[in-house]
Amino acid sequence: MKRLILIIIIYVIICFAIPIIFTKRYKVEDKTSKEEEKLISYDYKKYNTIKLLHVKTGKIEELPLDEYLYGVVSAEMPADYEIEALKAQAVVARTYTIYKMINGSKHENADICDDPTCCQAWISKDDRLSKWKVDEREANWEKIVLAAESTKGKIITYNNEPINAFFHANSGGTTETPSNVWGGSGYPYLQVVATVGEDGYSQYSSEVTVTKEELLQKLKQYHQNIEIDFSKDDEIKILEYTDSGRVKKIKFGNVEIPGTEARTVFGLKSAMFTIAINEENITFKVSGYGHGVGMSQTGADSLAKQRK
Ligand SMILES: [Zn+2]
Repeated sequence: MKRLILIIIIYVIICFAIPIIFTKRYKVEDKTSKEEEKLISYDYKKYNTIKLLHVKTGKIEELPLDEYLYGVVSAEMPADYEIEALKAQAVVARTYTIYKMINGSKHENADICDDPTCCQAWISKDDRLSKWKVDEREANWEKIVLAAESTKGKIITYNNEPINAFFHANSGGTTETPSNVWGGSGYPYLQVVATVGEDGYSQYSSEVTVTKEELLQKLKQYHQNIEIDFSKDDEIKILEYTDSGRVKKIKFGNVEIPGTEARTVFGLKSAMFTIAINEENITFKVSGYGHGVGMSQTGADSLAKQRK
């Protein structure tokens, strides 16, 4: 009898508990049933107007969504990139925007702002045109408009929900998972993938050199008790890499920090780096530019050039 009860309990766990655990893992965010309803009845026209906060002036401007996207695409990607890359940027920007509108904005009375460090970059048509050469203005603007208009209504979804779409300048050859950059879990649609041809772009490789004293001072701003014995060989050492080849953990003397923190401390373009140490200096040799999550802009341009 006891055995039978045990078997029934195990059966119940298999049927219910395990699927619940997996379902939670694959959900982007917990949502109320009201929000899920909104998603099921997703209607592009419903999100056709956006309230944009101009951070510098504090003014909120109401714009048709695609007109707003002209300003985002032209602020986020060079107009001389391939049209297919610009289209991809338009789809990513539109998805990010719709995701913000559905899942709630950080801003009161506005859906999104024009600060790239907060939401996504945006530039007005007049400002954009004034930064291009006179004879390129018309063709460039037409290309930007085409990228948004030819993808009208298109967003990226996962399980019928808009994804939280990220992008960066150059992945250094391999993209990163969000958990290695911001922690947490989820985002099953953002995986590590290799991109080819990114080494042909200026953002692919960079270097930062600091003296040993500068290195110590910069780290002291974050870790006051740090001590590094530069006479020892293994005092500065990469301890662990992520699956994408970025630095996960690095040791500086008695302190161990994530690669993403080293990126911030030393102003590195990405967390994909190697270190070279000589008598006086430490050099970080960096691949890629940005956090590496989601679409690589140079990767998109490279794939478009290869017609892939
Ligand atoms: Zn914002």
